[in-house]
Amino acid sequence: MNILGVYFCFDQKISLPKFMKTMLGLRCVVCGKIYNPDILYTCPSCGLEGILDVLYDYENLQKTFRPENLANRPHDIRRYEELLPINGTERLPATKVGWTPIFDANKLASTFGIARLFIKDEGRNPTASFKDRASAVGVAKAQELGFADIACASTGNAASSLAGAAAATGLRSTIFVPENAPEPKVMQLLIFGARVVRVKKPATGITAYEAAYDLCTQACERYGWYNRNCAINAYLVEGKKTCGLEIAEQMQANPPDWVVVSVGDGCTIAGVGKGLVEMQRLDWIAKRPRLLGVQAEGAAPIAKTFFDGGELVPSRGDSIAESIAVSKPRNWRKAIQAIRESQGTMIVVSDEEILHAQQLAARVGGVFGEPAGVAGFAGLKKAVISGVISNSASVLVVVTGSGLKDISAVRQMMLMPEAIEGEMESLDRFLKD
Ligand SMILES: *Cc1c(COP(=O)(O)O)cnc(C)c1O
Repeated sequence: MNILGVYFCFDQKISLPKFMKTMLGLRCVVCGKIYNPDILYTCPSCGLEGILDVLYDYENLQKTFRPENLANRPHDIRRYEELLPINGTERLPATKVGWTPIFDANKLASTFGIARLFIKDEGRNPTASFKDRASAVGVAKAQELGFADIACASTGNAASSLAGAAAATGLRSTIFVPENAPEPKVMQLLIFGARVVRVKKPATGITAYEAAYDLCTQACERYGWYNRNCAINAYLVEGKKTCGLEIAEQMQANPPDWVVVSVGDGCTIAGVGKGLVEMQRLDWIAKRPRLLGVQAEGAAPIAKTFFDGGELVPSRGDSIAESIAVSKPRNWRKAIQAIRESQGTMIVVSDEEILHAQQLAARVGGVFGEPAGVAGFAGLKKAVISGVISNSASVLVVVTGSGLKDISAVRQMMLMPEAIEGEMESLDRFLKD
């Protein structure tokens, strides 16, 4: 693999394909070396730890990437063409990924005791989670590189978003899931036509998920499939970044003081943070929100490293908030860097606090998020009580996924009502009880 500096790419600009006119190269988050954008996954010197970050030509973009030039563009992630690592937007799914609404949740703001509370509802994406942003860029990149197949190992939103995006663009998807993956989640994959490989827990200590992950990595090599794995694939975080770009554009005149994001692998908060940094650099917003990263008590290795320093130590990975129950997060460096750069912080919440937040968001805010999707509210509550976020603050919570995809968490809290006779007397009795 060539090791080429920024200036090499810069000199070649004129003859490069369109996307490389704004994309300068890839920088390793561990050793800082800069590569030409022809590397498939991670840094050749640092291996799997060496996750890459995409660099763009902000100096030139500052002149051309202006609000008035975007006025007639589609309201989805295709809008941010120059800041995406792809060659044109034609290969992105046409299913309207992104440009999710931000709305003012003033009743919830007073419940939490803060001045303003905004919700960005990622459940409005085509497969009802934030992950659609990453999968969209993943399928575009796969086609651009000439792959007909794309694969990932996941039980959750990464898998369903990939299955949907692959279906929308005509790619074949193969998804590795642990044998015990819940049926509703597997059905979501099958309906999109994904090939689902259920992997058994091996006799040797590792979990069925880890076995699925390893098998997926090997299969991609053996069969020549594109690997949609956020941590090793630098381009996927660029898809997630569009959420930060949107927050800046949608709230340009008055960006919030804080943006709250739940954290599993760390790619989501890293992406949101990068989007906000870019929009400040391009002069769209004057002030940049601080990031509050929220982890679940049973799976908080990034928060631990954030406060204690040093290298990440894998932890347990148990939480009702399955989508963030990650014991060995792969993108912790990018996440911690993004939070520090924003002068933000992290907070850890219990499953009980998450379930309480889920009810509160639904009953007072009118938004039904999955547990990982609403963990941000639990973090916000704690941050206000502990004084980290002041009562005069304006805060935006990213609700990362819809609760409708899997109601198993809700089932644990709610009682199925008794059926009654279809007559008024029965109703009177029922309402009195
Ligand atoms: C994946 C996911 C997250 C966390 O994203 P990471 O990149 O793993 O930190 C949060 N919420 C939902 C709903 C998710 O699917």
